[in-house]
Amino acid sequence: MEKKYGFGVDLGGTTCKLGLFRTDVDLLEKWEIPTDTSDFGAHILPDIAAAVETKLTERGIEKAAVLGIGIGVPGAVDADGVVHRCVNLGWGVVNVKETLSSLTGLPVHVANDASIAALGEAWKGSGAGMSGMLLLTLGTGIGGGIVLNGRLWNGYNGAAGEFGHMMVNPAETELCSCGKRGCLEQYASATGLVRCMRLQLQMDDRPSRLRAKNTFTAKDVIDAAKDGDALALTVMQSSFELLGAAAANLCNALNPEAVILGGGVSKAGEILLRWMRPGFEKAVFHACKSCRILLASLGNDAGIYGGMKLVLESGNANETRCHD
Ligand SMILES: [Zn+2]
Repeated sequence: MEKKYGFGVDLGGTTCKLGLFRTDVDLLEKWEIPTDTSDFGAHILPDIAAAVETKLTERGIEKAAVLGIGIGVPGAVDADGVVHRCVNLGWGVVNVKETLSSLTGLPVHVANDASIAALGEAWKGSGAGMSGMLLLTLGTGIGGGIVLNGRLWNGYNGAAGEFGHMMVNPAETELCSCGKRGCLEQYASATGLVRCMRLQLQMDDRPSRLRAKNTFTAKDVIDAAKDGDALALTVMQSSFELLGAAAANLCNALNPEAVILGGGVSKAGEILLRWMRPGFEKAVFHACKSCRILLASLGNDAGIYGGMKLVLESGNANETRCHD
């Protein structure tokens, strides 16, 4: 039977997004189920399997017509599809590939969630048609993925794309969540922006509308900077100068066609690219200057697109490029 369908799954700590795709057209339908992290996450994969089964029954699709399931998980995944620790899900060592495959009877392909988001953007998003691109996801932390020659680069241990833990300030005294000091996400992630704003308020006497607030979010800092709040603007410009320099260093190493910004912070829009520019210009090697910095375009759907692209890649071993 012709394998006309596939599933892209983006597993997060609170919800799991699923997409049913047709291999010859595009996304047919997307939906979400809650992620049940009780019992050390023991119900997560059975719940996903049940959601897949229900959808197939609902649409009258036979399993023989399904090419497979591509799933992104929030942790490092080894070449056998095994996750070795996933704090958000309560998982220790879980063989996602084998378990989900035996629950559904379908081939399963697994990768890190930020990596499949990169693959999704490279396939149908801002990186469509590019053979090499990087996605930097600016959320609570900073993650991302690397697509080279149209394929996902997972790295030796499946841990590629940990852009947030590139050291950008050797003089930093505060600790990053990873235990090191001076990591990029201490400055340019949502939590990093809030941290930097707090420090700025302590050492800078100029007025700021955030001074009277006990708590504020990264969005508050960004909005204040957009409105010309001098302190918030100082924070945004210095944090994004570091991000720009980090992006330039990645370009110098890999020479991709574009560095694409995704995640919650990227919703602030084009102005972020302007704030990044000075750092990028300062650090980029002349031969890598033509690399573009763009905003991601698939939003929360990047992961399910990337999951489906994983399925297509493994189904067509001879045709593995993103721009097909
Ligand atoms: Zn770190």
